Amino acid sequence: AKKRGRNRYFWFESQMEDELRFRNELETAIREGLSADEFVPYYEQQIDLETGKIVGFEMLARWRSAKYGLVSPDIFIPIAEEIDVIGTLSETLIRRALLDALEWHESITLSVNISPVQLRDPWFAQKILHMLVETGFPARRLEIEITESCLHQNIAAVRSIIASLKNQGISISLDDFGTGYSSLSQLRSLPFDRLKIDRSFVSEIASEDASGELVRAIVSLGKGLSLPVTAEGIENGTVLEKLRGLGDIKGQGYLYGQPEDAYATRARLEKLDLL
Ligand code: C2E
Ligand code: CA
Ligand code: CA
Ligand code: CA
Repeated sequence: AKKRGRNRYFWFESQMEDELRFRNELETAIREGLSADEFVPYYEQQIDLETGKIVGFEMLARWRSAKYGLVSPDIFIPIAEEIDVIGTLSETLIRRALLDALEWHESITLSVNISPVQLRDPWFAQKILHMLVETGFPARRLEIEITESCLHQNIAAVRSIIASLKNQGISISLDDFGTGYSSLSQLRSLPFDRLKIDRSFVSEIASEDASGELVRAIVSLGKGLSLPVTAEGIENGTVLEKLRGLGDIKGQGYLYGQPEDAYATRARLEKLDLL
């Protein structure tokens, strides 16, 4: 038994070494991928549920890694935050997205996701404004999505960044609404322009029990606060029909298609005469 225990100890130790090695390998690959321009913006359609028309796109980061293939942001964003390259990565992607979106019809907005780490940068708002000037993209067509985890830090600093962005005409959305803590008090205290209902709630609307009621409650909360609402993660027609019954809201999800690269997005818009 003693011997087996010892082997097991060695097994754990070598597994930990493997994980550490893989993690280091990923970090290096991310840095190299940044220099090699391997990070690209993908775009997910945002639909006016009443008319069925495309009204915007959410930019979602992808890593086209020479080594690992197409990598999800759930893998590389947390590492990019830890090794402090998230600012560079995000600015590269946003600049590209602004240039892509400049080709789209002027009625179409661009939403981008921002990490809490970026909101700790006192120059963040200036950087965004500078990119708008540089690219000529109109501020009123840009929407910045922040999650509740952004609000767990220096709230005065976050407030002043939001104020600078809004002063220039940029909209601010509260992303993944309902998944964090103290959502309700923050809704009142910060000047959001839109609520995005997390897909974990949206997918439940088709069910007859209380979880279905939750989405209805969030939509009427939005109405009460005069906050427009976007439902994310619409995967089927049943969910869509239930949502359409709730009134004037926007939606997005795999029912309309997976996120696509700039090229495919452009082709989609061209067919719809929206270039
Ligand atoms: P998110 O902002 O909540 O984005 C929505 C995610 O749900 C996307 O995953 C999208 O592909 C996926 N999705 C959309 N519709 C459906 C659906 O109908 N069903 C299902 N099952 N999933 C759907 P993705 O692209 O993997 O992004 C994951 C998260 O990574 C995002 O969640 C966002 O928090 C973060 N992220 C993505 N791009 C960036 C970025 O440029 N910067 C930062 N800081 N975070 C990013
Ligand atoms: Ca988002
Ligand atoms: Ca979201
Ligand atoms: Ca989400």
